[in-house]
Amino acid sequence: MNTLLPYEPRPTHLDSWRDRPAAQQPDWPDPVALHDVTDRLAAAPPLVFADECDRLKTRLAAVARGEAFLLQGGDCAESLDGMSAESVHGKLTTLLQMSAVLTYAAALPVVPVGRIAGQYAKPRSRPTETRDGVTLPVYRGDAVNGLAFTPEARVPDPARLLRTYHASASTLNLIRAFTAAGHASLGRTHEWNRDFIADSPHRHTYERIADGIDHALRFMRATGGRPEDFDSARFFVSHEALLLDYEAALTRRDARSGRPYATSGHLLWIGERTRDPEGAHVEWASQLANPVAVKLGPGTTADTALQLVDRLDPRREPGRLTFIVRMGVDKVRDVLPPLVEKVTASGAQVAWVCDPMHGNTMQAPSGYKTRHFDDVLGEVTAFFEVHRALGTHPGGIHVELTGDDVTECVGGGHGLDVHDLPVRYESACDPRLNRSQSLDLAFRVADFMKG
Ligand code: PEP
Ligand code: MN
Repeated sequence: MNTLLPYEPRPTHLDSWRDRPAAQQPDWPDPVALHDVTDRLAAAPPLVFADECDRLKTRLAAVARGEAFLLQGGDCAESLDGMSAESVHGKLTTLLQMSAVLTYAAALPVVPVGRIAGQYAKPRSRPTETRDGVTLPVYRGDAVNGLAFTPEARVPDPARLLRTYHASASTLNLIRAFTAAGHASLGRTHEWNRDFIADSPHRHTYERIADGIDHALRFMRATGGRPEDFDSARFFVSHEALLLDYEAALTRRDARSGRPYATSGHLLWIGERTRDPEGAHVEWASQLANPVAVKLGPGTTADTALQLVDRLDPRREPGRLTFIVRMGVDKVRDVLPPLVEKVTASGAQVAWVCDPMHGNTMQAPSGYKTRHFDDVLGEVTAFFEVHRALGTHPGGIHVELTGDDVTECVGGGHGLDVHDLPVRYESACDPRLNRSQSLDLAFRVADFMKG
């Protein structure tokens, strides 16, 4: 065997998930066309390598032990046509600016993970959508069908899976190039944060934090450290592993260990609607060597969380399993404590991460789906309080954001209100924090972390 090749050339055949119920799969109209596409994907090069996934697992183990903090973020749904160097750069720099602030506030290394380079498939609460008396299949993400409200666009088209693979590859290429070129050194990131602060109505609070970072940078340089070496080259990618035909076709065995890896992204998560412990998604993920995450909504029972631990982390390996809780600002204080207590008592060391977006979605009178910045911040605050009270580690945050100046969420430093929503609402699915709302969130979280 050619030992330079990271994966075995033969197909993986991890097919046990096919005997289980798989929620949220499209009704592909032509099984032959789907098969043709998955054969081509199975022969395509991997997008990520096993040692990168192992490195992320090691870093997530530090999160689970309370020694690091996860910052995961990006679009709700990436768009095939909207992919550009500018949009990728905008998301990357936003995440790295947030990461610089959080590193200082938490006094812990931050692990930056994008919802990017693969986030093209969406679970939906209803299979159809009705407008003006016309009912069509719902939009399931650019990996499946088109957003346009026409019968043609809404037919699932497996050729989109190939486009998803290629768009993910070019996005990853940009990420690798931007980070390798030092676009994200700590010194630069801090300068961008200074520009943001200069324009912010909260500049007095934020300046205190930025001054603290200045001091820390000076101290670092004085002691021979190089802020330029800030570990930004280690940026990881993640997405919801929803479409099992796509994911299974991109699963490969590591040539050294023989263990199967999803090669579509470093970290894969299972969504709130597909996390049945006996279902197909959990079965597939249980066989992977990658780190995996599961979203837990407000209806999650401690028994379900424990079953998920048994299915996905039977060896109780820190870093293997992350729980992303998305309870809603009004529920997290009641629902989260028993889950954390029982999972901790089971001996599992999972990473606990707060998604303050998905439990706080509402509809504006104009019909736009939106979220209020205060609810987002409120859920993060409550999540931290729960962990502080239990003596456990609030391991990170998972947010929907973009580097663009969209108007999809309300509130934040510049006080967007519901009348601003139509100005620039571009999300194909859920509302994202724009660049300045994302930085507001990082500074506000930093402020309460510093006390
Ligand atoms: C999402 O992350 O976009 C999503 C659909 O989340 P959840 O599975 O938590 O509802
Ligand atoms: Mn979403």
